[in-house]
Amino acid sequence: MLKIFISADIEGVAGVVHREHTARDGKEHDRARMLMTQEVNACIEGAFACGAAEIAVNDSHGTMRNLIPELIHPKAEYITGSPKMLAMMEGIHSEFDAAIFLGYHSRMGNEGVLNHTFHGGVIQNIRINQRDMGEFALNAGISGYFGVPVVLVTGCQHTANEAHEFLPGIETAIVKRTINRQSARHLSPQSAQTLIKEKTITALSNLSNFQPLLMKGPFLVEVTYLHSGLADAAAILPIAEKVNPITHRFQTDDFITAFRYIRSLIAIAGSLS
Ligand SMILES: [Zn+2]
Repeated sequence: MLKIFISADIEGVAGVVHREHTARDGKEHDRARMLMTQEVNACIEGAFACGAAEIAVNDSHGTMRNLIPELIHPKAEYITGSPKMLAMMEGIHSEFDAAIFLGYHSRMGNEGVLNHTFHGGVIQNIRINQRDMGEFALNAGISGYFGVPVVLVTGCQHTANEAHEFLPGIETAIVKRTINRQSARHLSPQSAQTLIKEKTITALSNLSNFQPLLMKGPFLVEVTYLHSGLADAAAILPIAEKVNPITHRFQTDDFITAFRYIRSLIAIAGSLS
C-alpha cells in the first residue's frame, strides 16, 4: 500500500521564469498554473504506475490555490488554501512512504531561476547549525522529522545541486537550465512531463535506496533579513535575539518548533514593515 506525498511549487516548473507567471495578478499566471497542474499529473501517473494506493498533493505556492481542480488526476487528492501550519508540507505524516518535491527552486543567495526563501521581500538567508537552508532543505527536514524520505525533486540545475548537498542519492528531474534569475532554457512542457513521470517511476521503484533527511538538534537558527527595518518589525517575537542589524537568532531542540518560529518571524517582518 504505497502512499505518496507531493509538495508542488511553481517556480521550478518548465516554462516559468517571471513574476507574471508566479503572482496571482500576473498576466501569465493562469498559463503557469496549467503547466504546474500538468507536471503534477505526470508525477501522479508515474506514482500510480508504481502501484501507489494513495497520493496527496499539497499546493505549495503563494496563495496555495494554484492547482486547477478540474484538471487534477481523478484518483489523487489535493490540499489547497492558506494559512497551513506546515505550509508547503501540510498533510505530511509518518504513514507516507515517500515525498516528492515538484517545481521547486533554489534558495535566496544561490543561483537559480526565481530563487528565494519563502518570502523574497523579507529573507536574505536562513542558517541552521551553520548550514544555509532554502525551501528544499527546510521542507526535507520536516519530511525527515516524520521519517519520510524525499525521493525526487524537479526544477532547474541549481535546485538539483542544492538537493544533492543534503540528500546525495536523491533523484532529480531537471526540466530547465537557469541562465539567470529571470531566464532559463526549458524542455518543452511535454518533454518535461515525460521526464518527471520517468523519474518518478525510477525513484519509487528503488525506495530502499533513500533515507529521510534527519536534522539533529539542538538547532541554532539564524534568520537574516533583507534590511534592518524587517528585523526591527520581527523583534517583537520574544525568542528573537539580535545578532546584528539584519539578523536574529534563536535556539530550540525541536525541528518543527524551529520551522514555526522561522515562519512567525517572516510573517511579522512581512506584515509590519
Ligand atoms: Zn513558490
